[in-house]
Amino acid sequence: MSVINILSPHVADLIAAGEVVERPASVVKELLENSFDAGARHVVCEIRDGGATYIRVTDDGCGMAPEDAGIAFVRHATSKLSDESGLEHISTMGFRGEALAAISSVSHMELLTRQKGAEEGTRVLLDAGEIEEMIPCGCPEGTTMICRNLFFNTPARLKFLKSDRSEASACITAALRCALGRPDVSVRFVRDGKEEFFSPGDGKLDSCLYALLGREEAASMLSCSSASDGLSLSGFVSSPAEGRGNRAHQFFFVNGRFIKSTLLQSAVEQAYRNTLLVGRYPSCVLYLTLSFSSVDVNVHPAKTEIRFGSEKRIFDFVYQAVRLALASEDRLNTNSDNLPLTGKGDRVAVDEVFSRKESGGIALNGTQTHAPSIPSEQINNSVIHNSEQHSESTTPSAAEPSQLRITNYELTPTPYPLHPTPSSSPTPYSLTPNSSSTSPLASPSTPYSLTPTPSSTPVPCPLSPDPSSPVPDHRILGEAFKTYIIVESRGELILIDKHAAHERMIFDRLKAAGRSVSSQMLLMPAIVRLSLEDMELLERNAALLSDLGFELEPYGEKEIIVRGVPAEMPASDVSSSIEEICEKLRSSKTPDPSSVHDEILHTVACKAAIKAGWDTQRPELEKIVSAVLSGAVLYCPHGRPVSSVLTRKDLDKLFKRIV
Ligand code: ADP
Ligand code: MG
Repeated sequence: MSVINILSPHVADLIAAGEVVERPASVVKELLENSFDAGARHVVCEIRDGGATYIRVTDDGCGMAPEDAGIAFVRHATSKLSDESGLEHISTMGFRGEALAAISSVSHMELLTRQKGAEEGTRVLLDAGEIEEMIPCGCPEGTTMICRNLFFNTPARLKFLKSDRSEASACITAALRCALGRPDVSVRFVRDGKEEFFSPGDGKLDSCLYALLGREEAASMLSCSSASDGLSLSGFVSSPAEGRGNRAHQFFFVNGRFIKSTLLQSAVEQAYRNTLLVGRYPSCVLYLTLSFSSVDVNVHPAKTEIRFGSEKRIFDFVYQAVRLALASEDRLNTNSDNLPLTGKGDRVAVDEVFSRKESGGIALNGTQTHAPSIPSEQINNSVIHNSEQHSESTTPSAAEPSQLRITNYELTPTPYPLHPTPSSSPTPYSLTPNSSSTSPLASPSTPYSLTPTPSSTPVPCPLSPDPSSPVPDHRILGEAFKTYIIVESRGELILIDKHAAHERMIFDRLKAAGRSVSSQMLLMPAIVRLSLEDMELLERNAALLSDLGFELEPYGEKEIIVRGVPAEMPASDVSSSIEEICEKLRSSKTPDPSSVHDEILHTVACKAAIKAGWDTQRPELEKIVSAVLSGAVLYCPHGRPVSSVLTRKDLDKLFKRIV
C-alpha cells in the first residue's frame, strides 16, 4: 500500500509559511522590504495588539497592475527574478516570491494598489490564501497591504506568540532594521495609534539610531569608515568604554540588507580584544558594501543569512576597519588638533576617519562612502561625557583592576577560612570609607578611597578560619598569566583558576543567603534603556530581582532606574549587568524559578569575582587557595573545574625520572 502523499498546495504553503512567518515581526519585515523593492520613497507601518490582529504597510511605490495583484499571492510569484542567471547578482530585498503567499496563507489579507498614472486601483481580499474578492477601486498611487488575524488558522503558532508588548517590540526592531538599511527612504512606524519612530529618508540616521540604541549610546558611538579593493564599510561602533552585557546592539547590513553573521560578529569582537572586559560586547551599526555577485543571499527563507565568496578577505577587512576606528578614538583624545588620520601602514585605506563630524548619508548599492551622520555637537559632548564616564565604568585600563580587586576583597565577607597575612607579604593599601561621602556604599563611582596603610596595620580578616574544613599545608608559588594560582601541597602541584574559583565562592555565598541578599544603594541611580520586551521581563521577575538585591523602578516605557544592586556587585557595571540579566531571562527556556534565580546569581557572581589578568594580592589568593584546598570549591557555577593537579609522580614521569 502506498504511504507517500503529495501534499496539497495549501498544506505546502502552511509549511513554507512556518519558515518565512515566525511572528508578526516577520510580516513587518517582508512587507517593508516589498515596499523598498517597489521603489517607495515613503512607507508607513502601523500595528495593533503587537501585530497579531493588525499590520498595515502603506507605500508610494510603483503599485501593481490588476493582473499582477491577483498572482502576487501565488507561491513563487515574483517580478524580481525571471531565470536562473538572476540568482547570481540579486539587488532586491526579495526574490523568492514566497512572502505574500506565506503571509496570506495564515491570515486575512487585504491589498489596495494602484500603479502610477493608472485610472483606478485594485482591491483584493484573501482568506487563508484564497482570493475572496478582487475588484477595481479608487485608492492613492502605491500599495497598501493589511494583514489581519495572523495565525488564525494555525493555533499552534498562535499559542507561541508572546505578549503584545514583546511582539510589538520585535516588530519595532524589525522595522528599525529595515529603516536603517535604507536611510534614503522615509519610514514611519505607529503602534496602537502612537508614533514609535520616524526616519526622514534624507540619508541621515539619527532618529533611527536614537530609537534603536537610545540617545546616549547613539551619540557616543565612534565612526567607522574604510574602503579597499571593492569593499567598503561605514557606520558606527561603540567606544570600548561602553560595552554591553549582550549582543543585542550589533547590527550588520550587507548591501542594505540586515543580516545575521557570525563572521562579521567575530571580526568586530576580535577587534575589541583586550579592550573590553570579559562578558561585555561591543555595539555596532555597520554597513558593508560589495558587489552583488560576491555574496549569496539565497541561503535562508527569511534571507537574514548570507554566504560570502571570500570569508577571510571580509573578516580581515572588517577587523582592520574597526581597529582603525578604535585607534582613531585614542588619537582624538590625545590630539587636540583633530587631524584626520591617513591610515598609513594599515592594510585598509581610510577615506575619512572623522566623517562623524560632517553630515552625510549612506548611498546604497556600492556608491557609498559617507557614514550616516549624528549632529557634531552631540558627538563632541559625548567624547567629554565618555571620558567622564571612564572613571566609573569598568574599563580594563592598567590602573583600574587593582581598584576593583580591592573593592572586591574588602566588600566581600567570606565564609571560607582565611590565613593570617604573612608579615612579609606586601599590604600597601587598605580601603577606608570615603569621608566626604555620608554613605560610603552609596556612591556608584568611587565608594572608597585608597589610602596607603602603615605597614604595621594588619589586613582586615573578615572571618576566622572554619575549623570544620581543614586546609592542608600549602605554599603559593605564584601565579601564571595572572590567571592560574600555582600551589604546592602535599607532594602535588595544584593549578587554580582564580576567577572560576572566586566566582564559585561568591555564588555559594549568595545562594546560602537565600532571599536576603544584601543590597547596596547607588548614590547616583543608573538609568538603563531597554526594549519593551526586556522591560516586561524585568517586570515579570520583579520579586525575584528584588530578593537578589536589585532595586529597580520603571521610568517611562523603555527605561528603568536602578537604585540598588547586590552588595557584591561592582556598582560601576550596572547597565551591562542588567542587560546580561535580561538576556538570561529571555533565553531561559525553563519556567523553573529556582533555575532562573541561579542564572542571575551566576551573573552577579561573575561580575563580583576577580578576573583573569588582574593583579591580585596575596591575601586574596590565600582565601581562594584555602577554599579550594578545603574541598569546598570544585567547579565554577558553569561546571568548569576550578583546579587541576599534577602529582610529583606526573612531573617525574614528564621528565623521565621514572618510567
Ligand atoms: P518577492 O518579494 O520575493 O518577489 P513577495 O511574495 O514578497 O515575493 O511579493 C511578490 C510580488 O508582489 C513581488 O515580486 C512584487 O512584484 C509584488 N509586490 C509585493 N509587494 C508590493 C508592493 N508593496 N508594491 C508593488 N509590488 C509589490
Ligand atoms: Mg518580498
